[in-house]
Amino acid sequence: MDIRNVAVIGCGTMGNGIAQAFATSGHDVALIDVNDERLRQALATIEKNLGRMVKKETLTENEARAALTRIRPATEPAKAAGADFLVEAATENRDLKKKLFATYDALCRPEVILATNTSSIPITEIAAATRRPDRVIGMHFFNPVPVMKLVEVIRALDTSDATCATVKTLATRLGKTPVEVKDSPGFVSNRLLMPLINEAIHALHEGVADAEAIDTVMKLGMAHPMGPLRLADFIGLDVCLAITEVLWQGLGQTKYLPCPLLRKMVAAGHLGEKSGRGFFTYPEKPK
Ligand code: NAD
Repeated sequence: MDIRNVAVIGCGTMGNGIAQAFATSGHDVALIDVNDERLRQALATIEKNLGRMVKKETLTENEARAALTRIRPATEPAKAAGADFLVEAATENRDLKKKLFATYDALCRPEVILATNTSSIPITEIAAATRRPDRVIGMHFFNPVPVMKLVEVIRALDTSDATCATVKTLATRLGKTPVEVKDSPGFVSNRLLMPLINEAIHALHEGVADAEAIDTVMKLGMAHPMGPLRLADFIGLDVCLAITEVLWQGLGQTKYLPCPLLRKMVAAGHLGEKSGRGFFTYPEKPK
């Protein structure tokens, strides 16, 4: 099937980036969220990002304008009915995602692939909420979506070869590199990244070094563009804790147990960049 119309469900950090990536590569996008204000913010963010690309001369002014007009914001799920492909990037909540997949399974044509951008919920479980488990798949983008090249393509138990091939081709058309992985806790990306972040938090907790020093070791010694504690603040400490819990519950080895300091930071509401304080502090963003 030729994929021209795409529905993106959820317009937060990831959803607006995904919508932008599809629109700049020529797709019409129905961007659907329950929250009107978030939709307005998402369009403003996309417009700002496209403007930045024009300044950097990676996009012409006409291309940026055309991309923006291809995105149609909406609050009604029914606006996804005409989509040839759907990718869900709503809040990371198991029950919500299952409900959304049941809803969009009923709304979308039977041949349409339903993808999820979840970071940690088993794709097989989400697929079971639909009548098309062979056409449900993980399409895991990375933040910021317009910049990051990787798409982890996650095969659930019943995902068909054709679905997998279509999603890989689509990712390539967005200028991304797809990497196929199996449906396992944390997939590959978070199974490797979260233990690194968790261990950096343990080192801080035990007083091995301060946050600045730990990050400097990884940046200058291992050529990481961002230290693990700064990266944790960027991802969100609540998100890091939730993913680490999934690894611990799903893989059952004590090495995945979240560090007590991570739990304390989240309990205190120190969630990283978004709350102004995590392992580092952040000035309030201008509204
Ligand atoms: P976010 O909180 O920024 O955005 C979530 C959006 O979903 C909000 O705008 C919310 O209004 C919307 N939403 C909630 N219920 C909805 C519904 N019923 N229908 C439509 N929209 C609904 O979250 P995010 O960081 O963009 O994460 C979205 C998904 O992407 C999650 O599954 C997350 O695990 C995954 N993810 C996040 C990152 C990251 O770095 N933030 C990276 C990869 C994957």
